[in-house]
Amino acid sequence: MVAHDEVGIGDFVLLDEISLEKVVENLRVRFNGGKIYTYIGEVCVSINPYRSTSIYSPDYVDKYKDRELFENPPHIFAVADAVHKEMKQQGRDTCIVISGESGSGKTEASKIIMKYIAAVTNIDGQQEIERVKNILIQSNSILESFGNAKTNRNDNSSRFGKYMDINFDFKGDPVGGDVTNYLLEKSRVVYQQKGERNFHCFYQLIHGCSEADLKSMRLVRDPASYNYIKSGASNSQTSLNDKTDYKAVMNAMSTLGFKHTETQTIWNVIAGVMHLGNITFTLDEDTVSTSGDKALNDAAHLLSVSPTELNDALTQRIIAAGGEVMQKTHTLVEAEYGRDALAKAVYDKLFTWIVSRINGTINVSSPNSTYKRYRTLIGVLDIYGFEIFDSNSFEQFCINYCNEKLQQLFIELVLKQEQEEYKKEGIAWQNIEYFNNQIICDLVEQNHKGILSIMDEACLNVGKVTDEMLLEAMDKKLTAHKHYTSRQLKPTDKELEHKTQFRIKHYAGDVVYNINGFLDKNKDTLFQDFKRLLFKSKNPVISEMWPEGAQDITKTTKRPQTAGTLFKTSMIALIKNLTSKEPFYVRCIKPNEVKSPVVFDEERVEHQVRYLGLVENILVRRAGFAHRQRYDKFLKRYKMISQYTWPNFRGGSDKDGVKMMMDEKGFSNDVQYGHTKIFIRSPRTLFALEQARNDL
Ligand code: ATP
Ligand code: MG
Repeated sequence: MVAHDEVGIGDFVLLDEISLEKVVENLRVRFNGGKIYTYIGEVCVSINPYRSTSIYSPDYVDKYKDRELFENPPHIFAVADAVHKEMKQQGRDTCIVISGESGSGKTEASKIIMKYIAAVTNIDGQQEIERVKNILIQSNSILESFGNAKTNRNDNSSRFGKYMDINFDFKGDPVGGDVTNYLLEKSRVVYQQKGERNFHCFYQLIHGCSEADLKSMRLVRDPASYNYIKSGASNSQTSLNDKTDYKAVMNAMSTLGFKHTETQTIWNVIAGVMHLGNITFTLDEDTVSTSGDKALNDAAHLLSVSPTELNDALTQRIIAAGGEVMQKTHTLVEAEYGRDALAKAVYDKLFTWIVSRINGTINVSSPNSTYKRYRTLIGVLDIYGFEIFDSNSFEQFCINYCNEKLQQLFIELVLKQEQEEYKKEGIAWQNIEYFNNQIICDLVEQNHKGILSIMDEACLNVGKVTDEMLLEAMDKKLTAHKHYTSRQLKPTDKELEHKTQFRIKHYAGDVVYNINGFLDKNKDTLFQDFKRLLFKSKNPVISEMWPEGAQDITKTTKRPQTAGTLFKTSMIALIKNLTSKEPFYVRCIKPNEVKSPVVFDEERVEHQVRYLGLVENILVRRAGFAHRQRYDKFLKRYKMISQYTWPNFRGGSDKDGVKMMMDEKGFSNDVQYGHTKIFIRSPRTLFALEQARNDL
């Protein structure tokens, strides 16, 4: 109910007319009036205010704690409270899926939710629970340091997907947790587009660490000195403060109980990656060699490996054929590819290690730990939103596929949820038609026929397969697909400028991808020599990150799964996991491209409203019943409007009371009576009820 909320309409379902224009209009009115949250039933639509607001203070926590959604103006706290209540009272696992494009406010929303849950739990003040809450919150700053970066869209863009389970005991207090990370955009380690930066941690380290640490890591405080971060170095006008953030990360690591050697190893690896990027190669009569010793020695030192062995691994590889072991020198291109692949892999391994280290800390089983007694959980998903860049590559392809899967889940679950509730309550219900994006998911993931399979086939091929050949293979298999086009299939297509481009018609819009680099990124080859080298690192923490390096050279290694297939497997597991829980949704919208608190870009917002399927969502919600409420609560709110129920109804059950009241007021045509709840079809009835209440 939205009676308290004067700016625009607090629940889209209550709009007089449902159309794209009206939805955008309502969002505009609310954004301009400083209202950033609007509901669609229980779905929370959030628009990024791009300014700090005072709506997350303890007063607000009190206002929303243990209240129903409709009792207060729309707020993400109300949703967090509903999720917590559902989990606590019904003993059900719940999850919150936060979606929206880059910069729309997903990560902020996930942190607000976590802070709310932390604020309303542990009234007994138990130490163990405080410890867990602290870790859950502090872990964000570590994950953001190593997994977020400044992009052209967002100064603090998450470049990995994050799913966090928070475990609760029987009293509803958090007692543990678990973070799962998805596909880190590791290509950023070696290359960033103009105006963007590498992951925050690189800049935090060189600006924030002590002189002594700087010296021991053989670094200078000048990002321009390092190839991997120099393009982002001139970018000083960001809202980030690397120096203070470094301190925050160090504090967080100490709160989480990272040992000194672990923290040191983490920063050594970061410094090692920077030095790796400064290694260059020269070609002398077909022999490739590293030029100069400094970068090589420094990198080897920080990764605790022998400089000679690092040099060997960078310039040649050992191959085993027919039981014989041979050396094959790299070409210049292979050497450079190998160096970058090494830097990316080292960083990726470090990131995964940090995540598992965080998990180990949250769930440490001390004798007093209540973790083992957890009963239910709340999952929070904050994953990269749909991306359309000027140039889109394999990473965008994966990210957009992920969003297709989530959109499908959204449509299905939101519908399923509605339909199940009607069934459960014994209400007659006709299925609603909706656009099923299964066809696009199939285009990507179907076995044998989908793009991922075609890509894997190309990678398996022993002969030299180029990206162009992959595109040809895709064209051949996908000619007839409605959502796929390439220049070769349609030479007249002006949107596709090059023969290397193909287009997918995603639910959220058309995206033109460039096939260049797809094969390499999918294969994700890292020469075995590097794995063995790092496994042999004298630093036990680094060695632990590389168990696969222990394998004997002559043993035929199983071909590792491709990056695409690994991603697909992780997506399928994620969807299965979310499906098993009671889902709640936060849909984030970005008001403009200029990070302004006052600009409302109609066109951009309209696009997002369209692809998030908000209008469909409202229609589904409305075609069913706009409002439903338990009889006792309903009676409590409206009993004053009827002579039969005021001050108390004594003629039977709450349901009987509600029926008498609705009959008397002439509302019965618009409602259906479920077993435990009343269902009201039209928002007008609700308005009228509110009106009657206000007129008294
Ligand atoms: P990405 O997909 O790139 O990770 P995102 O959706 O996670 O993007 P956020 O990082 O959460 O986006 O938000 C971007 C910026 O917008 C924040 O750094 C903050 O400045 C601002 N912002 C987002 N939500 C809020 C909010 N509720 N209140 C104030 N500022 C906000
Ligand atoms: Mg984010």
